[in-house]
Amino acid sequence: MTEEDRIREIYHRVSEAAEHWPTTTLDYYHGQPFKALIAGMLSAQSREEQTLKAAETLFALADNPEDILKLTDRQILEAVRPATYYESKAKYVREICQRLVEIDGGVVPSELDKLVQYRGVGWKVAVLTRQVAFDIHDDITVDVHVNRISKRLGLVDPSIKQPEKINEALKQVMPREFWARWNSMMVQFGREVCKPTYPQCATCFLRELCPQIGVVQTGPRTFKNAEYK
Ligand code: SF4
Repeated sequence: MTEEDRIREIYHRVSEAAEHWPTTTLDYYHGQPFKALIAGMLSAQSREEQTLKAAETLFALADNPEDILKLTDRQILEAVRPATYYESKAKYVREICQRLVEIDGGVVPSELDKLVQYRGVGWKVAVLTRQVAFDIHDDITVDVHVNRISKRLGLVDPSIKQPEKINEALKQVMPREFWARWNSMMVQFGREVCKPTYPQCATCFLRELCPQIGVVQTGPRTFKNAEYK
């Protein structure tokens, strides 16, 4: 099996399985730039359910920048409390809305260099926002799941740490048509199978395709991968 065939097989197996798994939080805001931007910012270091709860609580109070600016600081703080670092993120919510209204005319920009000007929006959130809000897939969003699983699968050198460089390394080996869904698929796969501490290697449907790089402990049963070459 060539490396390209291996990658295609990995993609297709995960893609098929992902049809039966819960969608990711940001999928809720597909095609909705403002919500995608705010939810993306809230998602940093937060679990899916925390992000969704914070975002939905906030959007129930106000779902556009002008109306959010009419909320009190306390209202915003309480709304985003489920997210980690909620005190900072509550301030970012207001600052994002202010910049949107005062500089960008209330319209979320689609350019990467403009998105990273927003408070609390780094490269990862900017790439994610472009994907979710605008269907722009020039890059692969690199979060903890993409980072961990891509390295276990031998797609990225484990010594590469920066998300931008992991993105570039993945783009070197990943067919262009796979970039759009790689992040959401890895989030789902990482929650269900290739978990951070105890990946379910013994029952994983990728086991004969995976070199398990860096895996030191697996789920309930151990698996010795003798088939991967
Ligand atoms: S075999 Fe293990 S390390 Fe490899 S993808 Fe499956 S769960 Fe992850």
